[in-house]
Amino acid sequence: MNSYTSRIHFELRTYKIVVTFLLFILASFSFGQDYKTIKAQKGDGIYSILKQNGLSANEYLDQFIELNKTRLGKNNSLIIGRTYKLPVIAEKKPKIQDSAPVTEVSKEKIVYEIFGDKYKEVTIQNRDLNKSVFYLMSGHGGPDPGAIGNLNGHLLCEDEYAYDVTLRLARNLTERGATVYMIIRDPNDGIRDDQFLTPDRDEVCFPDKTIPLNQLARLRQGTDAVNKLYRQNRGKFQRLVVIHVDSRSQKENIDVFFYHDKRSDAGKKLANTLKVTIGERYARHQPTRGYNGSVSERNLYVIKNSFPPAVFIELGNINHTRDQKRFILSDNRQAVANWLRDGLIQDFNKSIK
Ligand SMILES: [Zn+2]
Repeated sequence: MNSYTSRIHFELRTYKIVVTFLLFILASFSFGQDYKTIKAQKGDGIYSILKQNGLSANEYLDQFIELNKTRLGKNNSLIIGRTYKLPVIAEKKPKIQDSAPVTEVSKEKIVYEIFGDKYKEVTIQNRDLNKSVFYLMSGHGGPDPGAIGNLNGHLLCEDEYAYDVTLRLARNLTERGATVYMIIRDPNDGIRDDQFLTPDRDEVCFPDKTIPLNQLARLRQGTDAVNKLYRQNRGKFQRLVVIHVDSRSQKENIDVFFYHDKRSDAGKKLANTLKVTIGERYARHQPTRGYNGSVSERNLYVIKNSFPPAVFIELGNINHTRDQKRFILSDNRQAVANWLRDGLIQDFNKSIK
């Protein structure tokens, strides 16, 4: 067992203890419970009684029989005029959410192991993104490093740099009260402040699936993970953000730019808002620089097939010296993540009005 698996196991174990403890508290409250009762009328049977009271027979039949075993007639029939106890609807078990909070230090301070030792403690600063859900997916990972650049003899792998920016963005959004799911996950990298991020292959797809090498299988796996979570979060504000680093000729300098699916108005709006925000931030911090980011439609598997409105972001050209600075320096990775956060907050505010 490597340290990654043992850490995951540790997290799961901690979770189990917490969940068991919560269930124990719930259970101790429900002893001595007052049951709702009904009086059987002509024609009533267990199935119809359960159904009338919003209880599925699948889940509650056995419990009903157990509760009323001394009062039932032959073949578990109901006897007209007799009173029967109704099972209590079970509390929904708390769902285990990403990014796998392990310890809730306080209401406002939560530990997320995925951010790594230095950054795992997250203080909730405000609730600007309350009730929003973000799926963040960095490009490639597992056996696929994505684009590969080179700087002073160091290999620059797209998946590592995209992952670090994505992780910083996840932390930023969490600080603002959002629920964030990291779809591609590296259990032992965390947020890294190094210039050269060591390539590895141990990324998994939410929650802990091995990433296949086959491109379509890989894209489908990530999309399926998002869509499954989307159903669980139905009714909430939800967005998917996909982050990549492009690979072009060494001469080609590109700014952060955006794709959306042609059928998605919300995706288009999201992409445009992000572009405008990045433009504003550059104008503020580097007034002479200029910014040439763009928004365009593109037929890309993940944004086309995912349920939530989605944006696909390219952070720059991994082969261009100026672009490389955008992701080699950890301060720059953090700045990009901050600006993207600001754009996402704007999109959220516009969309919920
Ligand atoms: Zn890519």
